[in-house]
Amino acid sequence: MVQHDVRPTDDGDLLRVLDSAHLTALRWMHGISERDIPASATVDEVEAALGAALPVMGEEPVEVLRHLADAVEPGLMVSQSPRFYGWVMGGTYPVALGADWLTSAWDQNAGLREVTTGVVAAEDIAGRWILELLGLPPESDVGFTTGATMANFTCLAAARTRVLANEGWDVAAQGLTGAPRVRVFVGAERHGSVDLALSLLGLGVPTIIAVDDEGRIRADALADELQRAAGPTIVILQAGNIHSGAFDPFGDAIEAARHAGAWVHIDGAFGLWAAAGPTTRHLLDAAATADSWASDAHKTLNVPYDCGVAIVRDTSALRSTMGMHASYLFATTSDAADPHERVPELSRRARGVPVWATLRSLGVDGVHALVDGLARAASDLSRELSALPGLTVLNDVVFTQVCVACASDEATRALGERLRADGDAFASSSRWHDRDVLRFSVSNALTDAQAVADTVSAVSRALARSDSTLR
Ligand SMILES: *Cc1c(COP(=O)(O)O)cnc(C)c1O
Repeated sequence: MVQHDVRPTDDGDLLRVLDSAHLTALRWMHGISERDIPASATVDEVEAALGAALPVMGEEPVEVLRHLADAVEPGLMVSQSPRFYGWVMGGTYPVALGADWLTSAWDQNAGLREVTTGVVAAEDIAGRWILELLGLPPESDVGFTTGATMANFTCLAAARTRVLANEGWDVAAQGLTGAPRVRVFVGAERHGSVDLALSLLGLGVPTIIAVDDEGRIRADALADELQRAAGPTIVILQAGNIHSGAFDPFGDAIEAARHAGAWVHIDGAFGLWAAAGPTTRHLLDAAATADSWASDAHKTLNVPYDCGVAIVRDTSALRSTMGMHASYLFATTSDAADPHERVPELSRRARGVPVWATLRSLGVDGVHALVDGLARAASDLSRELSALPGLTVLNDVVFTQVCVACASDEATRALGERLRADGDAFASSSRWHDRDVLRFSVSNALTDAQAVADTVSAVSRALARSDSTLR
């Protein structure tokens, strides 16, 4: 028997494996908008199909990929559908996916400026374009994190360093034990990832500030609370409430925070992008006067998971917080810092590369059209849903979020379940203002007028059927 020498990097071998992955991906993505949206298999069912035992004898790579796709596909939720509105999840532009594939093929460790220069340059430019599009201070550092949770963490870590340094306390050297207490103020409807970031940073439970009907922080209440105590202070504001889409009153809130000498951070996971839409940018008036901003590219910008964006004006606070120094690292001598000084990770994928490709492909006009298009689709959806009998839109639709409810909690829950079971459109069930709601987040670039019309038909059908089951 002849033993073939098939090296893993042999061209023919590579081609077979990657062709098979490519075709499998195309097969999955083909007709994405015709598929039932929810996953049809449970985790246990997919695990059974995958097989629990680690085989003793390895398997042929093409076989492995085929087996993987066959087993996993029934468990995939079609979040790329133009009628998917669950949580806040963006779709994927083909150019973003292509660039993401290249990023994996290149397999660069994007931590060091002078080592993996190609991807560092692309990420640098992507970062500058983001600052331009969002109207944020050009001197800011931009770090590409896994998501907005880690972007919040990164920005707040820099904030912690700075507000304690202002009191003569070096948190990196001295830790938190015995440090002046850092006071943190948040609106009652901030995202849960803010609390997580504060907890990880040892900053504890923040002081909660009252919000208005749309979930916006009340600047007067914030000013009152800030007056009550002194010391290192962080104020966290929000661009884009997940239920209402509302934006905090940045001008007044930031003014109150400045009076107290506070660091101001804005969580704008999806809402920060409203600054790049001609019809929505007024929602971010004065937001650029904050100190740090957290956002996502995997939501509004429609790049694949995972990609968050941490933006910090005080670059020395950020770099001294996130940077690490070791003799084996080829530390840069450039003013621009090493990418690892802007995010928690040392080694990481060059997730800013798909951002570069997406922005280059859209151009300024395309980004304007994307953001305005999402907001317009949300406003159309809201108008047409509110015309359906028995359905009320609860929020003032200023951006991409539409929150609806039926007359009773029971009916709202039944509607959500029926809609998801039918499979044609997907919205999240949630609770807001003490009632059950069905939340539509318009976050996919493919959600056009036709998708909105089809969604309204799907909701109308589900409404008729869920009503009859309740009666
Ligand atoms: C989604 C979201 C987050 C968390 O972002 P991840 O990318 O899931 O980590 C934080 N804040 C807001 C307002 C969000 O919508």
